[in-house]
Amino acid sequence: MQRLYDDNVYDFATPQPSYWEASAPAPAFASPPLQRDGSCDVAIIGGGYTGLSAAYHLARDHGIDVRVLEAGHIGWGASGRNGGFCCVGGTGLQLRGMIRRFGLDAARAWYRSQVQAVELVRDLVRDEDIDVEAFGAAEVKIAHSPRAFARLESDHKAMTELLGLDAELLTRYEVSERLHDSAQQHGALISRPAFGLHPLRFCRGLALAATLRGARLHSGSEVLSWSRSADGTHRLRTAGGTLRASKVLFATNGFMPEQLRAEFYGRTLPVVSAIVVTRPLSDDERLNEGWHTEHPAINSRHLLNYFRLLPDNRFLFGARGHTRGTRDGERTTYRKIINTLRKTWPGWSGVEIEYRWHGLICMTASLRPGIGRLTDDPFTFFGFGYHGHGVNTATWAGKQLADWMGRGAAPDDLPRLARELPRRYPMPALRRAYLRTGLVLANWLDSL
Ligand SMILES: Cc1cc2nc3c(=O)[nH]c(=O)nc-3n(C[C@H](O)[C@H](O)[C@H](O)COP(=O)(O)OP(=O)(O)OC[C@H]3O[C@@H](n4cnc5c(N)ncnc54)[C@H](O)[C@@H]3O)c2cc1C
Repeated sequence: MQRLYDDNVYDFATPQPSYWEASAPAPAFASPPLQRDGSCDVAIIGGGYTGLSAAYHLARDHGIDVRVLEAGHIGWGASGRNGGFCCVGGTGLQLRGMIRRFGLDAARAWYRSQVQAVELVRDLVRDEDIDVEAFGAAEVKIAHSPRAFARLESDHKAMTELLGLDAELLTRYEVSERLHDSAQQHGALISRPAFGLHPLRFCRGLALAATLRGARLHSGSEVLSWSRSADGTHRLRTAGGTLRASKVLFATNGFMPEQLRAEFYGRTLPVVSAIVVTRPLSDDERLNEGWHTEHPAINSRHLLNYFRLLPDNRFLFGARGHTRGTRDGERTTYRKIINTLRKTWPGWSGVEIEYRWHGLICMTASLRPGIGRLTDDPFTFFGFGYHGHGVNTATWAGKQLADWMGRGAAPDDLPRLARELPRRYPMPALRRAYLRTGLVLANWLDSL
């Protein structure tokens, strides 16, 4: 079965040349490749936030013998290379659309879980003493046009009056006073809880905490096949050996190897997201362009940009990327992102870009994550489809899944909205064509 993107997107042996890889301390935990056959109660495929959080909570709270098989190094996937926004979200649904489709109670339950998810990250960071370089204390959504501001007004009403969320609407003047002064902003919506962090530090901290609780991690251990014996035992074959387990958690999100189990084929739409980071700005450079907030920010475009100041005064800027995953596509994406960055903050046109990298976020046809277990094989669990979120959502999903496996019943606070296997895309082989069409439409809407 062919993967959706070019092979270089799945080059597990090579880390992305990210700012995070360059600035994180070396791992303080062992994660040797699987080198002989072995067994455990729960085997997890994927060493990102979902897999590591599940491993940590399984070992800490349920005393379960758990191992993680990771194809690259721990944090090789999106968890080691994201923008570091820890904020409420996790679906591709619009607020009012979610309320219309699932009802107010279901929407409230979802957002409650997302707030808990941010708090879970905060608790883990505190309890396990992980230095994540936390920065900022809210998420800012900047309106890119007066019409977009009207939409934010409506969102603000729904967030505060219907969902009970902590949100604040700022006029254009208030934004320029408090956050960011630019001709391209038309007001903003601030929401809490949210903060920025160093994603790879968080990932490695979580991995260390998991190993200290007894979980065993194996990097460089790509699962090449997944079969079941007559007695139901799962067998995960890697180049170094086969791991047998009574339960498996499939935690590979956007990098999902769909060929391993037919049940998962065609249920995700991985989308390239790319990031550039400048050299450290001087305070004058930063202030002359009107940037004076530590809060992570996004804009209101359909093809949104995400950006934040980092603790050492670098500026991080991210956007959706190319649709093939080729090296040429990569270069075009970086060129476009850098152009947008420089158009928005012309005073930084001469500022060097020191890092650029990309990865896959994971969408689903139902625009919701899937966190649960297969109905025809109750010993196979899954967690994926966080729609460009995941610092909080994947960490929380891992805990939910650990509790589910540990107690043998789905946790009460796992909202039904996310508790099923997302439906398959019609004609999955056409997924990249759907994506291209979606991007053209989004571009057109943004240009109106
Ligand atoms: C550029 C970018 C920016 C983002 N920005 C943000 C942000 O600011 N805030 C936010 O909340 N979220 C963000 N996200 C999304 C977030 O990073 C993800 O949702 C989250 O990290 C998913 O965690 P995960 O553990 O489920 O998957 P991943 O971290 O992707 O881990 C999956 C792992 O599975 C492994 N794997 C795949 N196949 C196999 C196999 N056969 N055998 C063994 N292992 C395998 C992969 O190597 C990978 O490491 C961003 C994502 C990207 C790509």
